[in-house]
Amino acid sequence: MKCTRCRAKAEVELRAHNAGFCRPCYLFYFRRQVERAIAAERMFTHDERLLVAVSGGKDSLALWDVLAECGYATTGLYLGLGIGAYSARSHEKALKFAEQRELELRVVTLEEEGPGLAIPDVAAATRRVPCSACGTMKRHFFDTAALAGGFEVLVTGHNLDDEAARLMGNVLRWQRDHLARQRPVLPATHPKFVRKVKPLYLISEYETAVYAFMRGIDYIVEECPNAVGATQLLYKDVLNRLEHASPGTKQAFVQEFFRSGQPAFAAVENEEPQVCGQCGMPAYGTLCSFCRLVRQVEARRSPPGAAAPA
Ligand code: SF4
Ligand SMILES: [Zn+2]
Ligand SMILES: [Zn+2]
Repeated sequence: MKCTRCRAKAEVELRAHNAGFCRPCYLFYFRRQVERAIAAERMFTHDERLLVAVSGGKDSLALWDVLAECGYATTGLYLGLGIGAYSARSHEKALKFAEQRELELRVVTLEEEGPGLAIPDVAAATRRVPCSACGTMKRHFFDTAALAGGFEVLVTGHNLDDEAARLMGNVLRWQRDHLARQRPVLPATHPKFVRKVKPLYLISEYETAVYAFMRGIDYIVEECPNAVGATQLLYKDVLNRLEHASPGTKQAFVQEFFRSGQPAFAAVENEEPQVCGQCGMPAYGTLCSFCRLVRQVEARRSPPGAAAPA
């Protein structure tokens, strides 16, 4: 196969785009895809300060690489989840990436927050599945870090496969409030929220992996141990089978939802956040979901007979 751009020998074939690229043209294509998404969705400008959430995995590091190369003002944020050797190795990858490129990386470690909030401990104390506790932690600490650092935008590395799997989960249960909030740009709906954006939302996991490989990015290849058996992976598998039979399915599913489905849900599901009575962050209810979770952890750790901490 020949490169669609320069007719040299292609190194990558993208069936969904009916295209193939040599290495230099692929790197050009990938960056242009990211820049197009940023411009088309008005995600951010070169004058804004971006906080990039990095996990040590390929998507977030590839994204940080592109944004830094394109001259955006970026700072990385690594959230240490306390998931044993997996967290230690992913922290190492994020640190090394930042050091090599002389980029600033901020680190928040869950073990050192509140009463000690490592994901396995919180999951055990509250009998919640780890991924549910993890989602609440990520949202809270990303929001508070962005606010405390005075950043205008929080950038995450969610890719097309993530968005398609999430959409499938939301549709299968018709979670209208979740469908209303699933979009590539979430404007700041409260003075304590910053804008949240996903520049890779139309770029597949495969495309990001190829970019990371070509750029020599050293990322954590292994999945989080809690991902095994997670429904997200089942949805990704189903979607990959559909994609294999009909290339372009994932992109059409996600893009059409954002174009026509999401605005319809947003029009009827527009609940404004209140203020959390405990931490002062935005909340849907008297306490935000983070503070509710922390209370559960504290209540479970209190000695029998003692009152739960306020
Ligand atoms: S698999 Fe679950 S616990 Fe692991 S990082 Fe993802 S959401 Fe968190
Ligand atoms: Zn080429
Ligand atoms: Zn709170």
